[in-house]
Amino acid sequence: MLHYDSELLKVLERVYGGEVAGFLNSIMSPGSRLYVRVNTLRASAGSVMDGLRERGVETYADEELVEALYFPVKGPFKVDLLDKRIVVDKRAAESVYMGANVYAPGVLSCKDVRKGNEVTVVAEDGTPVANAVAVTNCEEVLKASARRGIVAETTRSVYKAPKIRELPEYQEGLIYPQSLAAMYVTHVLDPRPGELVVDACAAPGGKTSHMIEYSKGGAHVIAFDHSQKRLSELMSNLERLGEERFAEVWQADSRYLHIDFPWIRADKVVVDPPCTALGVRPKVFDFKSYRDVENASRYQIQFLRSAFRILKPRGILVYSTCTVTTEENEEVIESFVEEVGCVEVLEIGIKRGARGVLGYRYSDAFLRFHPHIHNTSGYFIAKLMKMC
Ligand code: SAH
Repeated sequence: MLHYDSELLKVLERVYGGEVAGFLNSIMSPGSRLYVRVNTLRASAGSVMDGLRERGVETYADEELVEALYFPVKGPFKVDLLDKRIVVDKRAAESVYMGANVYAPGVLSCKDVRKGNEVTVVAEDGTPVANAVAVTNCEEVLKASARRGIVAETTRSVYKAPKIRELPEYQEGLIYPQSLAAMYVTHVLDPRPGELVVDACAAPGGKTSHMIEYSKGGAHVIAFDHSQKRLSELMSNLERLGEERFAEVWQADSRYLHIDFPWIRADKVVVDPPCTALGVRPKVFDFKSYRDVENASRYQIQFLRSAFRILKPRGILVYSTCTVTTEENEEVIESFVEEVGCVEVLEIGIKRGARGVLGYRYSDAFLRFHPHIHNTSGYFIAKLMKMC
């Protein structure tokens, strides 16, 4: 279930008009394609696809991006409502919804669930995501000091796709799960060998690693993030992909990079800041209000200000979000351009997706993906050049 307040729904209506219901429906499903990016420093997409197909995993190449492969997503299937339940947190609910097993760290409660019981796995708000069979006495697992391992094996989930993290290709660092729309950020940035490229909000490293691969390890990448926990995820992703030597990773508040790292003169900067994530799919449930949109947009412009100051003259700044409100997208860019003056909004020139929401000065220059139209996550990308 989506719990959005009426003001937020009004904002969505401004973006989508009569298609709001279609949009809301689409973000509760994963779309029909689950994408991974191939680590082209280690393998070609063709060889990874052949390997998967040989083991019977249905895999296809994207029509445009050579590094992109996708798995068809099956469903939706009906889940039985049983007496015994395992309640899982949001992150676990979203992966079990797609067919993953139930792991101990994601379990919130599992009253009277014993080994062998058939159960319904539900999210915190009661939405059923799967049927499963318990492989342990669940309550005892919850009492243990170190919680790990599988609690229940999923027998039927609402949607079904390969469990990416369990594929040998994932463990060997040949693939990285990433939405197709997010992959376009690096293509818009176009990082070249020899360039100094900064990723201001980098963890867990989807775009950082893509920039490394895209520039064949030739770009000097500096990755910043605020959160220590997320930085350790970034480090382990880079290690798994065999790319740790290509990036410098720093903990920082990226609203103040120009103060804390004043010597940086970057050729290119990516700002992929926290956002309301309304475009992220699938959502089992979500609680958001218009206030979240306002807070996010106030925060987002601060990253742009600092990124701009560590950029060389004629340097490129790419701004992206996985959300759909104009407040966090078109309007952040417009306010920023008005404020700093010496910046040009560049045409992105990618044929896929759509342009920005109509009625803004630079609508035609922006790239947007709409979940209910493009069968992707909801996404926004803008490309700016510093002119002074
Ligand atoms: N670019 C990443 C996703 C970034 S999500 C990828 O492609 O994988 C937004 C990130 O911004 C989060 O990791 C969050 O920890 C970070 N963040 C939030 N506030 C920040 C701040 N003030 N300074 C730096 N990073 C921040």
